[in-house]
Amino acid sequence: MTRVAVVGAGVGGLACGARLAARGHDVQVFEQADVVGGKLGIHEQDGFRFDTGPSLLTWPQLVHDVLDHTATDGDDASLELQQVDPIAHYRYPDGTTLTAHANRERMRRAFDTSLGLGTGAAWARLMERAERMWDAIEQPILSQPQPGVAGLANQARRLTDLGKIAPHRTLRSIGQQYLHHPHQQQFLERYATYTGSDPRRAPAVLATIPWLEQTTGAWYVAGGLHRIAEVLADRITAHGGQVHTSARVDTIATTGDAVTGVTLADGTRIAADVVIANNEARSLYGRVLEHPNAPRWRKEVERAEPSLSGFVVLLGLDGRTPDLSHHTVLFNADFDAEFDAIFGREPQPVPDPTIYVSVPDDPTTAPDGSEAWFVLVNAARQGPVDWDADDTAARYAEHVIDLMAKRGLDVRHRIRTSTWISPADLARRTGALGGAIYGTSSNGWRAAAMRPANRGPIDGLYLVGGSAHPGGGLPLVLKSAEITTGLIDA
Ligand SMILES: Cc1cc2nc3c(=O)[nH]c(=O)nc-3n(C[C@H](O)[C@H](O)[C@H](O)COP(=O)(O)OP(=O)(O)OC[C@H]3O[C@@H](n4cnc5c(N)ncnc54)[C@H](O)[C@@H]3O)c2cc1C
Repeated sequence: MTRVAVVGAGVGGLACGARLAARGHDVQVFEQADVVGGKLGIHEQDGFRFDTGPSLLTWPQLVHDVLDHTATDGDDASLELQQVDPIAHYRYPDGTTLTAHANRERMRRAFDTSLGLGTGAAWARLMERAERMWDAIEQPILSQPQPGVAGLANQARRLTDLGKIAPHRTLRSIGQQYLHHPHQQQFLERYATYTGSDPRRAPAVLATIPWLEQTTGAWYVAGGLHRIAEVLADRITAHGGQVHTSARVDTIATTGDAVTGVTLADGTRIAADVVIANNEARSLYGRVLEHPNAPRWRKEVERAEPSLSGFVVLLGLDGRTPDLSHHTVLFNADFDAEFDAIFGREPQPVPDPTIYVSVPDDPTTAPDGSEAWFVLVNAARQGPVDWDADDTAARYAEHVIDLMAKRGLDVRHRIRTSTWISPADLARRTGALGGAIYGTSSNGWRAAAMRPANRGPIDGLYLVGGSAHPGGGLPLVLKSAEITTGLIDA
């Protein structure tokens, strides 16, 4: 039986912990926060229960896989996945509206209806290309271990060979090739933010994200997506493992080139044969790993650009809104200005951001006759912007609510309770660098090759989560856990 210590109870750490505990290993998970889940977070206030991270799940098979592999004989906590369709209602500044579906045929019809005949066919052609891209990456790249730091150059060469995925092209450029309506291009480009990236620099292969959504569906979890973290933690304990919250790991100890265990902030030492770091690779090598080469490894991981962050406003509203989609997206007029404000030379809170509103149709999230609204805008990280300065965050939350009103969603008179989570708050809650939502971004065609491998550079050290291979977002982090546990149990 291998003694496994997991640093962090994000979905990656929990999925690894659950899979390994189910295979009979002695698993202990240490989470610095007082609740599991990391970015897959939860906030409860005045009877409202808000997911503070993802609001929809794609590629649900990955959740089914981890649940199947960790099933217990007894009274098993499980998850109820509910398909959401339509997924989102889009509003453009010129008054155009579009209803998006998690289904290719319905999506094609929606484009023709909203943006004009022919736009549906253009989208369908792009999705056919995206399907070929998916075939090129799903098994060879997303489902396999990365070869590690030494093999990154090889990985890059392999990517170059994969003509289907057009490695040197950006999401914007492939959008401009296939789509001619500017609203449709903006629709495609928003998927760059699903990996925390800028559509002008993110690779064309991100066109596979809407393809995946429209092929495998978009799913909500009854009770909120945070339930995924709760159930995985339950699976760990059901298999004899332990999940410790309010337990920060200060150091990962090593002897020679092998891990020996972890030391907690209160001084407790736990011996381990395997340590799985679910904290960010930068914090692993910058602060936590005790090894003479850690500064060098830190420099290597710092070559990858962190993802963007998000500014979240949580609103508990009186009354119910008729005909509300799960998501409402209020586009801005100048998408480039949004990404300039986030990734440009002088980062600042985006003055006129796209606004993403999520309102689950789930009675457990709000008291009777009310609604729990999660409002997200893309934001520059804490650091480049000081979100803690004076009343920056409070004023920005008001600004977002006022912008919603200007764009036709005026809920100011309905607010019963509210709060916000700035990038600085997100960094404190989850240990994410500057509150980066997805770990590292996909900006630049080499980004995928620059993510650290799941097998660390010393014996017994493994990396899982958004800043490791194959990247951020729930589906890829679940893949990361599958690859990592496969390496440990090989
Ligand atoms: C606002 C927001 C919206 C999002 N929307 C989506 C979406 O729509 N779809 C999607 O797929 N994804 C979305 N994501 C991203 C998704 O939530 C993340 O990619 C995923 O949850 C990250 O999981 P992870 O395993 O990398 O760990 P993380 O969630 O980063 O967790 C790491 C954990 O490690 C802990 N930790 C760090 N250092 C230590 C230490 N020294 N000791 C102990 N514990 C430590 C942290 O507290 C944290 O709990 C969103 C995220 C946010 C914040």
